[in-house]
Amino acid sequence: MKLYNTLNRKLEVLHPINKDVVKVYSCGPTVYNYAHIGNLRAFIFSDCLRRALEASGHTVKQVMNITDVGHLVSDADDGEDKLETGATREGKTVWEVAEHYTEAFVSDMKQLNILPPNGYKIRPDGYARATDFIDTQIIMIEKLLSGDYAYITEQAIYFDVTKLANYGALSRQKLADKEVASRDEVVSDPDKKHPFDFAVWFFLAGHFQNHSMHWPSPWGEGFPGWHLECSAIIHATLGDPIDIHTGGVDHIGTHHTNEMAQTEAAFGHALSNVWLHNEFILVDSKKMSKSSGNFYVLKDIIERGFSPSSFRLLCLQAHYRSQLNFTWDSLAAASNRLKSLQALADLRYQTTPGYAGETFITLLKDLPSRMLHAAQDDLNIPQALAELSPLDIVLVDGLKEGDRLLFENFLDKCIGDLFGIDLLSSSDITEQQKDSIAKREAARKSKQWQQSDELRDSLLEQGIVLRDTPTGTIWSRE
Ligand SMILES: [Zn+2]
Repeated sequence: MKLYNTLNRKLEVLHPINKDVVKVYSCGPTVYNYAHIGNLRAFIFSDCLRRALEASGHTVKQVMNITDVGHLVSDADDGEDKLETGATREGKTVWEVAEHYTEAFVSDMKQLNILPPNGYKIRPDGYARATDFIDTQIIMIEKLLSGDYAYITEQAIYFDVTKLANYGALSRQKLADKEVASRDEVVSDPDKKHPFDFAVWFFLAGHFQNHSMHWPSPWGEGFPGWHLECSAIIHATLGDPIDIHTGGVDHIGTHHTNEMAQTEAAFGHALSNVWLHNEFILVDSKKMSKSSGNFYVLKDIIERGFSPSSFRLLCLQAHYRSQLNFTWDSLAAASNRLKSLQALADLRYQTTPGYAGETFITLLKDLPSRMLHAAQDDLNIPQALAELSPLDIVLVDGLKEGDRLLFENFLDKCIGDLFGIDLLSSSDITEQQKDSIAKREAARKSKQWQQSDELRDSLLEQGIVLRDTPTGTIWSRE
């Protein structure tokens, strides 16, 4: 498996630390609102990574967090807490907001056929809540303070970015450059030493004196900063260093930079060997934003009559490191592609003698390795999907008797497991429909055109489309 490691800016062959298990951590959502399609793309991407690793024979241990505390409106240390903002907006408690949007998120993941994380068993849904790991976060702060990597003010405990020699290695931004860029930023805590020092713990003081989520700590009642939870969850569940850390490109500069810094300072070793970052989704070639009215969530897609799988396929058709331009037309095209894949899968129900013989068998032997090879080349899923196209041609006249099991196994392992697209759930047509197809074929052969057309129309009303081939009639779903 070759992956593009943001840390070294190059393609690298994956060498897992422990050859038996690949440890993967994926930054999850902040549950103060529904996940937008840009967020969903990140989770589809990390799911593709998991599936490609598993298809390559690796055992994967994956953990994903749910941020239910401490994420401020700016990713740095300014502004309101996102959960508190959600609670004010909806007239609920922060806990109710977190629970509601966590449930909505887990439901989105199921609908998109994203495998639940398997490295954290405490929660039945598998997602690690930041609030489940307050103790580990406090232990890490103790280590940072005792190692002189952090300092305490009246308002917060800050990580001192000047103390870590390679701070900013991931973004390759020098601290001096960042200082110039941030000159105009408001520093709300006058005792903060450097504008890029970031809070690992906020006290119930100043801006946050009425913050509703808080826990006791050796330094006073408060709540953890956003970046700390990921480092703490990784330490407690997977153990650092891990093999692969994933997230959106927007995390490189601040969130992932700070995650790395905390772990290196607290434990003296790296957080992750490989860092993978997925690009943004654009909507109609523009950045998605609520104010532009081009901000979509999964519910919008379903309300427009598209399936979650269509959106999944749209994401798979673009490489994770390129921007994906979402338009309703592009989603409609992906939906049509899904229908044609479904029609291909439906061919397993019909056999026509003498067709799709040796060519089909050869192709089916060859395809899985070609698809896996593409997936192992920095997750080139668009190429893996493109490998399927010869099947359309070979199978156009149906399947040879006896090859159904072989084909079903391919659909299950190579399309279901690798792409997360389930084509096997559609059932065979009814006996009555099969009977109608046979009657219509007989009518057509004896040139009883009226009866033939009536039967064809009746089947079409049931969503069955007929196509006549030299050896017989083939149906597909509309
Ligand atoms: Zn994170």
